[in-house]
Amino acid sequence: MPELLAGKTALILGVANKWSLAYAIAQAFRREGAKLLLTYQGDRQKEAVTELGSELGAAAIFECDVTRDEDLAKLAETVRQHGRLDTLVHSIAFANREDLSRPFVETSRAGYLLAQDVSAYSLVSAARTVAPLMTEGGSVMTLTYLGATRVVTNYNVMGVAKAALEACVRYLSSDLGPSNIRVNAISAGPVKTVSARGVAGLSKMLETMPTRAPLRRNCTPEEVADTAVFLASDLGRGVTGNVLFVDAGYQVMGF
Ligand code: NAP
Repeated sequence: MPELLAGKTALILGVANKWSLAYAIAQAFRREGAKLLLTYQGDRQKEAVTELGSELGAAAIFECDVTRDEDLAKLAETVRQHGRLDTLVHSIAFANREDLSRPFVETSRAGYLLAQDVSAYSLVSAARTVAPLMTEGGSVMTLTYLGATRVVTNYNVMGVAKAALEACVRYLSSDLGPSNIRVNAISAGPVKTVSARGVAGLSKMLETMPTRAPLRRNCTPEEVADTAVFLASDLGRGVTGNVLFVDAGYQVMGF
């Protein structure tokens, strides 16, 4: 079978460990022949991500905290050294733990702004940074969740950040479309990762999915990753400004 991403270079933000959705995406991209560039947030993750990156045969692994403009400027420099960029995967989110367990109405201004900065604005700044390197068009994608449009208990400030993120996807798709850069989001069902474990009640969500979702099971990181391959490949060339659900169908269910 031909490799779907042969000759393409992908920058993936958000690999923290083997459970990260970004790790599954990196594995699938590698399987399809992409050249991988990975980032880690800070010294705390450097060793772990460097080890995972070398297992994945990544061409470069470098630091990027998306809240720091100087890191984004360096990111552009480092990526430029690898020539043209074809794909950006934004798989990053953060909110204070207490904002993911107490009532949403208790959210502080600082907690609200932090969640928006890391989880939504960073897509805008990262896309702006790499768009000039996508000289033959490209695909930008991010990860979102149903809590953007529905009330999901405890998802709270992250749901509001995901709503902003999905709106960013639409506006970015309009701005970057004339350069043949597509921008989409994958809305994944719940998967046990470090970030997801920060949301109180994750286990209950994982137990409910097989009883309610049309496919009667949870979704897997591999399914999310294969959708990312589709979006990064030429197969997805007509798709932009969209939110694609990879959630075993859960989002269609009503009462
Ligand atoms: P994860 O492995 O914990 O990944 C989250 C990543 O965000 C980590 O690599 C984390 O780095 C990074 N990050 C946080 N703040 C950052 C910053 N300032 N600069 C750079 N990187 C930063 O969890 P995940 O579940 O795979 O999450 C990936 C994406 O999928 C998130 O957008 C999440 O909301 C979304 N998503 C997850 C699920 C799910 O159920 N797991 C469902 C739908 C959508 P550190 O570890 O170094 O902080």
